[in-house]
Amino acid sequence: MTLRLYDTATRSVRDFVPREAGKVGVYLCGLTLQAPPHIGHLRSGVNYDVLRRWLLSKGFEVTFIRNLTDIDDKVLAKAMEHGRPFWSIAYANEQILTASYRALNVLPPTYEPRATGHVPEMHELIARLIETGHAYPATDGSGDVYFDVASWPAYGSLSGQAPADMQPAGDSPDRGKRDPRDFALWKGAKPGEPADAYWPSPWGRGRPGWHIECSAMCWRYLGPEFDIHGGGLDLTFPHHENEIAQSQAADLPFARYWVHHGLLGIGGTKMGKSLGNTLDLDYVASLGVRPVELRYYYVAAHYRSRIDYSEDALREAAVAYRRIEGFVQRAAERVGPGRPGDLPGGFVAAMDDDLNTSAALAALHEVVRDGNTALTAGDDVTVRTTLSATRAMLDILGVDPLDPAWTGGGRTDDLRGVVDSLIALALEQRAQARSRKDWAAADAVRDQLKQAGVVVEDTPQGPRWTIGEQD
Ligand SMILES: [Zn+2]
Repeated sequence: MTLRLYDTATRSVRDFVPREAGKVGVYLCGLTLQAPPHIGHLRSGVNYDVLRRWLLSKGFEVTFIRNLTDIDDKVLAKAMEHGRPFWSIAYANEQILTASYRALNVLPPTYEPRATGHVPEMHELIARLIETGHAYPATDGSGDVYFDVASWPAYGSLSGQAPADMQPAGDSPDRGKRDPRDFALWKGAKPGEPADAYWPSPWGRGRPGWHIECSAMCWRYLGPEFDIHGGGLDLTFPHHENEIAQSQAADLPFARYWVHHGLLGIGGTKMGKSLGNTLDLDYVASLGVRPVELRYYYVAAHYRSRIDYSEDALREAAVAYRRIEGFVQRAAERVGPGRPGDLPGGFVAAMDDDLNTSAALAALHEVVRDGNTALTAGDDVTVRTTLSATRAMLDILGVDPLDPAWTGGGRTDDLRGVVDSLIALALEQRAQARSRKDWAAADAVRDQLKQAGVVVEDTPQGPRWTIGEQD
């Protein structure tokens, strides 16, 4: 079956045909590191992780690039506000981002380049653009270099805007520009800005504009032309529009498909600094929702849809996930964990249809239902096949509870180990109380565990415990 993807550039769902048979190059715009990531940012990496896992399962060799924007106006503003070097701000936020993605079982990118490591490539692109008449140094002596929007007739095609309707580029003052829509490729050093945030260049000391960073990193790691460029819908204009214009004007054919994901907002607006940044993984943990459940919450929505965050919806997703997890655990206890097996046709068709994860989850729930029926009926053959199909589907979505990423290694799982031992200790005390027929003491242990959110269920294999409500 062929994967079909919605391509923003052509505004249509198209068969995905890679540039080179069997190989796919993907570039995802990463985070600008002025602040730690909130759950809106983290949706991005999870969405493209599902795309990546789907491409891998279809047998493609995937080169996945997710960059880090470690120099930018916003990072510099933070540096000045805190009186710290820009890189220390960027690096601190990078570490939180990496830990957050690890906690969410997002596969590490093939390469994760930092913008500051690619200034020479940016200079080369800018020089080409000046040579071919698509860019010019500012006329006000500021040391800025601008892309000449009027020189590129296709400008606006990605976002579907007519040039006359466009807003001025807001990235620098219009003083030295030929046209207010011209955007900065290079920003000359300005008085009052930190002296450590500049590089020498043929146009004077300065730093790169945001857009040219991504063009340079795409080129460096994926070549002049590559398969998929991704990012949030909010990046379509101006960021991606500018990336296309400057790359193609510099003779790079650039991305063949533009895949944009919907945003996760709150109260009808974009998750912002004032409120949004507090909605991070620690906040989610404070609700008693585990990272795997947050990931399930993300993938339960189609990647192009907007998610309006609500605590209720997040908790509902967690409960839905626990039901699936409960089946996987009970089935694995009964017939052994096995291995992820073949994917049901309904799941494959849904994923091939522009990664329709909500339809794919419907296929998954159907198999879990059959599996639960088989468990009750003692039909081990069906338990085994439904378990392996369920694990295969969960693996594509990155939420298989038996994946070692969730069961071993990493800080969250160190904690899980500690919790395991403490509960084992409590259950041992309960067993001792029972063996001396002290039912009151045994029940007290069980009640105290329940108060702490640990539900104990007695099974023929011994007591089994879960965190959260039993339904
Ligand atoms: Zn970008």
